[in-house]
Amino acid sequence: MTDINKKTSQASTRPVTMSGRQEPVFSDELHTALIVGALVFLSSWFGIVTRPDNNLAAFWPANALLLGLLVRSPRFASPAGWIAAVLGYVAADLFTGSSAPIKIFLLTAANLLSVVTGYWMYARYDEGIRNLKRSQSILVMVVNVAVAGAVAGVLGAFIDPFLFNGTPLRGWSFWFVTEVVNYMAILPVVFSAPKFSWRWLERRKQSSMHIDLSHSAPIFAVVLSCILSVLIGGPGAVAFPVPALLWCSVTYSVFTMAVLTLGFSVWTLIAISTQVIDLAIAGSMIDAEMSIRIGVTLVTLAPITLAVVMQSRNELLRRLLDIASHDQLTGLLNRHAFRERCNTLLPQLVIDGKSASLLMIDIDHFKTVNDTYGHAAGDQALINFSRSASACLRSSDVFGRLGGEEFAVLLPDCLRADVQAIAERIRQTIAETPIDLNNNFQLSITVSIGAAVTYEAPPDVDSLLLVADSALYRAKNGGRNRIVESEFQFGQIAARPTG
Ligand code: GH3
Ligand code: MG
Ligand code: MG
Repeated sequence: MTDINKKTSQASTRPVTMSGRQEPVFSDELHTALIVGALVFLSSWFGIVTRPDNNLAAFWPANALLLGLLVRSPRFASPAGWIAAVLGYVAADLFTGSSAPIKIFLLTAANLLSVVTGYWMYARYDEGIRNLKRSQSILVMVVNVAVAGAVAGVLGAFIDPFLFNGTPLRGWSFWFVTEVVNYMAILPVVFSAPKFSWRWLERRKQSSMHIDLSHSAPIFAVVLSCILSVLIGGPGAVAFPVPALLWCSVTYSVFTMAVLTLGFSVWTLIAISTQVIDLAIAGSMIDAEMSIRIGVTLVTLAPITLAVVMQSRNELLRRLLDIASHDQLTGLLNRHAFRERCNTLLPQLVIDGKSASLLMIDIDHFKTVNDTYGHAAGDQALINFSRSASACLRSSDVFGRLGGEEFAVLLPDCLRADVQAIAERIRQTIAETPIDLNNNFQLSITVSIGAAVTYEAPPDVDSLLLVADSALYRAKNGGRNRIVESEFQFGQIAARPTG
């Protein structure tokens, strides 16, 4: 319960105007009512005009869209939102000229019962589950919509004999199946849809400029297998696109997958009911149709589940990679990642005939800082140093913490005078920026810098590190808080003894 309700109360915090007065609640409530009312009205209207005569609609998007909206943005689940939903259902029936008042009442009650149950079921789950960010998300969705469908089916069991001369069992099962199929097709799209913003739209436009054909191959495979299911037919035809859909799940985002599976469900259901796909099933068609509807939904579960699992796995990998390549204290690249980044960049600089210089920076008398002010102050000094030095660098420079109080910067394509200027800017900034400690003390530190300057980049970073290290050693011996520069040509280092 807690999570959705917490969101609701946060969202209802009133904005305050410049003069300190609260904005009227009314305009927000009206806004909520208009959005919910319009959504329910239009989607119910769509369901009504596409339903067969004297029967219930097979594709009824209203409940799924309403539940999706309420679960995703609980601020719409206000009293005004619920009242607008009721009015939306009733208005769609009245507007299409259908139904006696008792029929409108019963159908609206069953629709609402389904959505309220679904909303109540979702209230116990956190945002990660609701937004399809966890591997269990789809399993939770199946359980929640099955309960919502089953509860609405109880009213359906009463409605069917009363309005359509059916049996209670047929009423319950029809209602249950239709609710589950619609929810499972639509909810993933609503839950995984990216938050709209103008910047998002801009990025989409840019990426759609260059369409990658190989990236579209899985979609072509889905289309091709749908064509094959029409050509070959038979009861197995429904499952033909499954391999292609699985291919899609390991290629596309959850949202793209949700849209694809929605398209697949709608297409298959229409193709079967219009007999474009001939399933060649003998016997009572109504039972076969029920079974097919459930079958289609189950078919789409596998690819969408796989897409969710892939996405959470990729996110986990990205976070692990981030942790593995960054120093946790300063956020800079660690030694391993620094070397990797440099060794990826340098070969290209060699090909382009560009230079690459390297600064090795060591904080002076850092042990004394720790001994005098404590380890926490030392940590603060390391953080401040990283921030101040980063501000002196270009975006193309690679900055890493080699270990302890020792750092390195690779300066690609940088003239000798610029290398000197950057090194001097770092030295001076650090010396002139005192660090505020918690207990009102100010701590000043200095750094020594060894610079390996080249006119032609070497193919890997180790020789640069060696030359910069010996320059740093001379800077320390020369009295610290200074820069010593060493010019270096690739090949010269090979002659030096190591170790
Ligand atoms: P020099 O001017 O010759 O570089 O002297 P120094 O004291 O800076 O060098 P030394 O190598 O003797 O000491 C480095 C110190 O850095 C010792 C170690 O405790 C401290 N140190 C290393 N990593 C960390 C860290 O993550 N946090 C803190 N607070 N101290 C660290
Ligand atoms: Mg030091
Ligand atoms: Mg050191």
